[in-house]
Amino acid sequence: MHFASPASPRDYLEMPIQTLKVGALGTHKTIGLAKHAKARFLMASTSETYGDPLVNPQPESYWGNVNPIGSRGVYDEAKRFAEALVMAYHRYHGVDTRIARIFNTYGPRMRPHDGRVVSNFIVQALKGEPLTVYGSGEQTRSFCFVEDEVEGLIRLLMAPNAEDVHLPVNIGNPHELTVLEIAEKIIELSGSNSRIIFEPLPEDDPKVRRPDISRANQLLDWSPKISLEEGLERTIDYFRLKLKNTE
Ligand code: UDP
Repeated sequence: MHFASPASPRDYLEMPIQTLKVGALGTHKTIGLAKHAKARFLMASTSETYGDPLVNPQPESYWGNVNPIGSRGVYDEAKRFAEALVMAYHRYHGVDTRIARIFNTYGPRMRPHDGRVVSNFIVQALKGEPLTVYGSGEQTRSFCFVEDEVEGLIRLLMAPNAEDVHLPVNIGNPHELTVLEIAEKIIELSGSNSRIIFEPLPEDDPKVRRPDISRANQLLDWSPKISLEEGLERTIDYFRLKLKNTE
């Protein structure tokens, strides 16, 4: 299972060359190893392959709307190259490959300073600091609890070898909400007095994102089970303990 890459926008903006290298050269090395060992190979791809999508929700058949030379392009294009490489190794060398397009995922054990929206907002809410909404907060995301995500990934890895399992599969939660709504929900569930402030929107920040999971549903008999409320409560509990222990 090849998951190596920075995946938080903050991280890949700080490590642009490393992100390109691990997605391109790292995938080449690991799939070469899988070919040699006759191993099954699962590559962690991303909803970023759809860029700033012009269709919503995004089915796997959508080719995306990516700015190759924008600051996010280092992640998006490395993952798109990795998908092309994996498909070529499957078609040309017969490697038993899988491609999971992972959408926004959250849960316990995220780093407090990961930079992504759910961990940022929870840490800010628990410390009584303002929640930093980028742009107007009208952009949307769809958040999958980590246990659901892992279950989908394992089902894809374990699915019997058949022609249609090699094509990309979206693994994410289709419950879509605006960034402002997620901020309000986190304030409410954590019982925080924090207010919301607005900061500039990062370059090429996608305006909408929501997976079409019909393929995962049919192929893997999978759909997410954990509600946003339950997932957020469990994540807030984790961060409450974590912050207490690091005080
Ligand atoms: N975001 C925000 N405040 C933050 C962090 C992120 O408003 O403190 C927004 C960000 O601009 C994006 C969304 O939340 O629209 C999700 O950002 P994240 O970095 O979690 O991942 P992305 O989905 O962009 O890869």
